[in-house]
Amino acid sequence: MKSKEIRAQFLTFFESKKHEIVSSAPMVMKNDPTLMFTNAGMNQFKEYFLGNATPKNARVTDTQKCLRVSGKHNDLEEVGKDTYHHTMFEMLGNWSFGDYFKKEAIAWAWELLTEVYKINPDNLYVTVFEGDDADGTGKDEEAYNFWKAIVPENQILLGNKKDNFWEMGDQGPCGPASEIHIDIRSEEEKAKISGKELVNQDHPQVVEIWNLVFMQYNRKADGSLVELPNKHIDTGMGFERLCMVMQGVQSNYDTDVFTPLIREIETITNSTYGKEEETDIAIRVIADHVRAVAFAIADGQLPSNNGAGYVIRRILRRAIRYGFTFLNTKEPFIYKLVETLSLQMKETFPEIQKQKNLCENVIKEEENSFLRTLDQGLVLLDQIIQNADSKEISGKKAFELYDTYGFPIDLTALILSERGLDLNETEFEKELQKQKDRSRSAAQTKAEDWQILREDDEEEFVGYDRLETSVKITKFRKVESKKDGALFQLVFNLTPFYAEGGGQVGDKGYLESANGNVTYIIDTKKENNQIIHITKNLPENLPGTFRAVVDKKQRNRSASNHSATHLLHQALRSILGTHVEQKGSMVHSGYLRFDFSHFSKVSAEELKQVENFVNARIQEQLPLEENRRLPYNEAIEQGAIALFGEKYGDAVRTIRFGDSMELCGGTHVSNTSEIWHFKITAESAVASGVRRIEAITGDAAKDFFTQQSESFNQVKSLLKNPKDTIKAVTDLQEENTALKKEIEALLKEKAKNVKGDLKNAITEVNGVQFLATEVDLDAGAMKDLSFQIGGEVENLFMILGSKQNGKALLSVYIDKQLAEEKSLNAGQMVRELGKHIQGGGGGQAFFATAGGKNPDGIAKALEEGKKYVG
Ligand code: ATP
Ligand code: MG
Repeated sequence: MKSKEIRAQFLTFFESKKHEIVSSAPMVMKNDPTLMFTNAGMNQFKEYFLGNATPKNARVTDTQKCLRVSGKHNDLEEVGKDTYHHTMFEMLGNWSFGDYFKKEAIAWAWELLTEVYKINPDNLYVTVFEGDDADGTGKDEEAYNFWKAIVPENQILLGNKKDNFWEMGDQGPCGPASEIHIDIRSEEEKAKISGKELVNQDHPQVVEIWNLVFMQYNRKADGSLVELPNKHIDTGMGFERLCMVMQGVQSNYDTDVFTPLIREIETITNSTYGKEEETDIAIRVIADHVRAVAFAIADGQLPSNNGAGYVIRRILRRAIRYGFTFLNTKEPFIYKLVETLSLQMKETFPEIQKQKNLCENVIKEEENSFLRTLDQGLVLLDQIIQNADSKEISGKKAFELYDTYGFPIDLTALILSERGLDLNETEFEKELQKQKDRSRSAAQTKAEDWQILREDDEEEFVGYDRLETSVKITKFRKVESKKDGALFQLVFNLTPFYAEGGGQVGDKGYLESANGNVTYIIDTKKENNQIIHITKNLPENLPGTFRAVVDKKQRNRSASNHSATHLLHQALRSILGTHVEQKGSMVHSGYLRFDFSHFSKVSAEELKQVENFVNARIQEQLPLEENRRLPYNEAIEQGAIALFGEKYGDAVRTIRFGDSMELCGGTHVSNTSEIWHFKITAESAVASGVRRIEAITGDAAKDFFTQQSESFNQVKSLLKNPKDTIKAVTDLQEENTALKKEIEALLKEKAKNVKGDLKNAITEVNGVQFLATEVDLDAGAMKDLSFQIGGEVENLFMILGSKQNGKALLSVYIDKQLAEEKSLNAGQMVRELGKHIQGGGGGQAFFATAGGKNPDGIAKALEEGKKYVG
């Protein structure tokens, strides 16, 4: 069975059990401070488990793009080495939000595997949580009994907290789990040892395929567990592993999910899969990583130097390095695989095909630059090896190479071992740990439990219509971080505060109590669908009622910038072309930043056109046409622009100004005339194929023009108010060039005279043409003159001193032959003489210079110089 059908059967099976099929959330998290990437199917439903939002349907099913390369789930180092862990994989899942529980989840999983997919039940093993004394949880009897009804008891195993108790994080919803494992070994192997013995033993042919989590507790900050009022089901099955089972192969990489990519790698790199372990690992790494990287880019996460972007860069570099080392690829080639991937995925995940050019360009550019790094690194490593005084290379040096130049440590180790050298790995690990500790301690935060003041329904956002309203605080908690110290997070029953999101910053403002006490809200963020107001201290007299007031000025400026961003997007698409896709945006109160796909620099002429386009829309005074709840499909049909990598619900909000229509949750001006004016301040490259425009609007644009005109007036008045300022400046420049030429000519003339004077002053001492004297020349001229005279006067030995800008200079010139014959050394002399001018220097035996702080010592130095010929 083809992988496409396997995926489809999963979804239709659960659809037949009254589940709604929903789409995958983006793999890259946009506004979740706790997670960079989706690492499990349940991530997008967190808010339902936490009770912060109510789902439309209590049963859903989907296939979710997951990435396990950071944080709690990090499989990166395993990937390629084994045959069943990927960085990016699809997780098939079914969910119940307070609806069905263990009985149905267990029965349906079994039905699907054994009756629909027709997997031989003898090859399946299930695990049940054995209980944990510290938590006071007993064995999951419920699950055990449901399993016992359908599975022979000798195929049921008990498992510990590590394998059979699932937690979202340190706090929050959690519960026991049942895993389903499969034994795909040959009958011969099975006869030797029972599959039961190999469950959870990291055996590549006895692997977990499905995990059923029974969410029934909430873990509190102090570590204790309380029962959840609503119990949920959260399951996850690895799609690629299921395909391995269904297609009767022994490795995920032998399924049709991977074989097209592997064939392509073999062809491009002229290698063969399945012959040699090292080559195989490299091919698997590349086939796996190109998926992770392409999906991340398509979701809007470009490789970069920090955060999620850095994680993506590291994955790609890992692939490049495996190619470089084991497939001998010295040219970019991974980008060529995007084509195959895009065709394979086009029905389930069309985003790759739609952004194929961008994915290819970005990957190719990264490949190019990292291959250069590798080349440089090899040279640096060579130097380290040459300078080493023992067989063991310092871990500190290797760390430096790794940290500063991005040169991979395993490559360092490999090269060293090829040359019969060792790497001090303990030292390297120590440095690495130090670095990790540094970044961890900066980020660490500790949150207390939420203190519930009122049981309210979901918090309502009223900030599109009001900037001020009376609110009640429903809950709060204290959060402590190394970076910000102690802060409080407050949740209201309703709020006018816009939470950071969609590129727009969160609102600031204050809370005022009945007796006039004010608490400032320094930022507003969203976490698990909850709007969180951040303060430095707790308002007095809780619970109480407060007047919540948004900083109007800041909000208006942000709104102006946000609306201008939409117009800019429209302008770029109409002037540069519809290949322009938004790749990120940042809307501050002070300015806006917009990243978009485009393959060349935007010319000054184009920028002018873009500016004019936006300003024309401003002048047209287009009113805001907002629709807060439009079915997604209808919005798209009406021409609204949706962004890749953004998670949209069934009903969306649309923002329209004239012909610009976007799906957007941000705050906007009610008429484009409020933007006043749009001015681009910068255009630059963010990555290959991605450009950035920065711009200002409204007050900021006003300030900008005022400042510009003030500076211009200053320039004018400095130029004594000429009629034509530009001409006055060009005249000045021309005059300046002419003067420079004159000075140069004069200096040359002067040098000629000096040369004559110096030559005349040379005396013969013991067969040496000697001179030690003070001149008024800079270092360059001293050197030039020395060599000029040296070319004209044989056996010259000349010491010059000069005072320049309050500092002292010395130069010593000795005819080459003379220096050899008499074993004179200018470098050594200049160091000795340099002491008199409180300085130092050096050079060669025939010419050397020194500089020092003490010009008064020049005379002494020259005097002293005579002793060398005396
Ligand atoms: P394992 O012990 O094999 O790493 P896990 O316990 O980390 O699995 P879960 O977190 O329970 O797995 O995820 C649910 C399912 O997703 C697993 O049963 C497995 O089929 C699949 N899965 C997990 N991690 C990966 C991965 N890195 N690559 C491919 N599939 C995976
Ligand atoms: Mg795992």
